[in-house]
Amino acid sequence: LFETVAGVLDAPSQGVDRERRQSEPIDGTTSAEAVTLDLRVLLAEDNEVNIKVGTRLLERWGCRVDAVKTGWEAVECHRAREYDLILMDVQMPEMDGYEATQAIRGAEAVTDAHIPIIAMTAHAMARDRERCLEAGMDDHIAKPVDS
Ligand code: MN
Repeated sequence: LFETVAGVLDAPSQGVDRERRQSEPIDGTTSAEAVTLDLRVLLAEDNEVNIKVGTRLLERWGCRVDAVKTGWEAVECHRAREYDLILMDVQMPEMDGYEATQAIRGAEAVTDAHIPIIAMTAHAMARDRERCLEAGMDDHIAKPVDS
């Protein structure tokens, strides 16, 4: 997930705290655990356990996390606040992740903005990835999410 996030942001150096990186062990090992991501993340996920696990992981990396449980709330939150990244569950009540993404992309069309949206789905087939990209997501990761 870290690599996906760093990849979407197109540089570890952009989101990673430099001081923290300098304090990494000099034996050349790099670990996601040793890196701080100073990001505001919107986590849209309707499963309580996944919210807890996802929030804990992201906060351990230094992210500030808002969690919502429906696609509709995700759209509302994106409208109301600024985020660096959205992690979007696909199956949610009221409005699913595809619809929420399409709504967000529609709103962005007038502003030229493009927030990275990464789908989280239990279905890791190529077809599922395609469907996520078609909906306007930037990438997708399979659940259960591996740090
Ligand atoms: Mn779900």
